[in-house]
Amino acid sequence: MEALIFDVKRFAVHDGPGLRTTIFFKGCPLSCLWCHNPESQSFNIEVCKAERKVGDRTTFYDKEMGYFSSVESLMDIIRKDSLYFEESGGGVTFSGGEPMMQIDFLLAVLMKCKEADIHTAVDTSGFASWDSFQKIMPYTDLFLFDIKHIDSEKHRLLTGVDNSVILDNLSKITNFGKKVWIRIPAIPTCNTDDNSISNIIHFIAQLKSDAISQINILPFHKLANHKYSNLGLQNCLTGINEPTSDEIQAIKQKFEILRIPILTKG
Ligand code: SF4
Repeated sequence: MEALIFDVKRFAVHDGPGLRTTIFFKGCPLSCLWCHNPESQSFNIEVCKAERKVGDRTTFYDKEMGYFSSVESLMDIIRKDSLYFEESGGGVTFSGGEPMMQIDFLLAVLMKCKEADIHTAVDTSGFASWDSFQKIMPYTDLFLFDIKHIDSEKHRLLTGVDNSVILDNLSKITNFGKKVWIRIPAIPTCNTDDNSISNIIHFIAQLKSDAISQINILPFHKLANHKYSNLGLQNCLTGINEPTSDEIQAIKQKFEILRIPILTKG
């Protein structure tokens, strides 16, 4: 069995507790306007322009994005950092793209991690069948679960899909008592107005609170702009500014009413 992967990041510190190896699966059913990994969206191997700097000279070459990996070759990479996981309370995080879209492979590698006593996290948009979530739940220690917007029509405009299955899955996961970190991308003009934030807070407030151990606010950034041009994709948010640290602090303060630890990234 193989999965289409587009990157592996070792020693990641933002994708769950401790030091982590993050595996990025390629392919996502969403197309968020702000996606900072646009190379993760296609379910196929793509060719993009990549830069190579030699001294003052910059040259471009064609780079393949994505490769197929077996469970065993991925486990070889994951096991390399077992010692760091043990010492830091870390583990492995499956991200993307949407890892739930390659569910049989994800299940197989999660089971191997459990056999090896490695902490596992799945970073998901939540847009997958409940059946898929049920399959992986026994082998997943933590879900990093996005809430992008509560209004379903706005969600569809911003991400390409309706949010009903996403919010439903999040409610069910928390009812099962699974540990969840909720991640909220803070995207000016899309979801940072008072009404959008207040709706997200109300939604979280009615979830089973002891399952949610952290809220992450992820500020919009422009670091991925070059990826859009390298892939020949249209970047719809070029005219939008990154939120200031004061704006992020103001959003954070609103979430404090939930009495759940909040971490802002960036
Ligand atoms: S869910 Fe994540 S990977 Fe998929 S399009 Fe949105 S931001 Fe990109």
